Amino acid sequence: MNEVTLTPTSNDAATRRGCGECRTCCNGWLSAEIYGHKMGGGVPCKFLKPDGCGIYESRPELCRSFVCGWLKPGSPFPENWRPDKIGFIIREGLWEGKTCWLLQYAGKEDPSAEVMEAMRQHTIATGQPHIIKKRYSWLCYGKPEFQQAMLKLSQEIMGEMGLSKSLFFW
Ligand code: SF4
Ligand code: SF4
Repeated sequence: MNEVTLTPTSNDAATRRGCGECRTCCNGWLSAEIYGHKMGGGVPCKFLKPDGCGIYESRPELCRSFVCGWLKPGSPFPENWRPDKIGFIIREGLWEGKTCWLLQYAGKEDPSAEVMEAMRQHTIATGQPHIIKKRYSWLCYGKPEFQQAMLKLSQEIMGEMGLSKSLFFW
């Protein structure tokens, strides 16, 4: 297994990343309603065309302001983790005022052992917890309070039975 260390990239406007060919956040793995049309659960945005957004100039604010964790200035995630290449979307969240990360399944592969180990090391080094939403299950990594909070949240969403089969801590 190759070891990957996550380090913040440049915050400089001149070297800022772009989405390029990636359309992953429009591909139906995030839930949203765009001008009355729902996307999510693998159903892409109604306005997505093969070469990109079909309503780019009039896309809603939700789309204009969305920046995934790979794209954000200063992202610690490597260049080759662009969501369309790696198969999941990275999202930044806040837990108790601190950054936490969600790696969300986006219709391809579950994160590799290499990615999971890099995330684990990143959480140990920074204290930033993370959640990996795999195709059929969730993994949470962080201090016990974080795990408890995620457990509670999951119970509210899924109920006890669904949860016991799908939430794991590591
Ligand atoms: S997932 Fe990230 S890199 Fe891909 S299109 Fe959306 S914002 Fe851009
Ligand atoms: S409206 Fe355009 S940018 Fe927004 S989700 Fe749909 S295809 Fe993507």
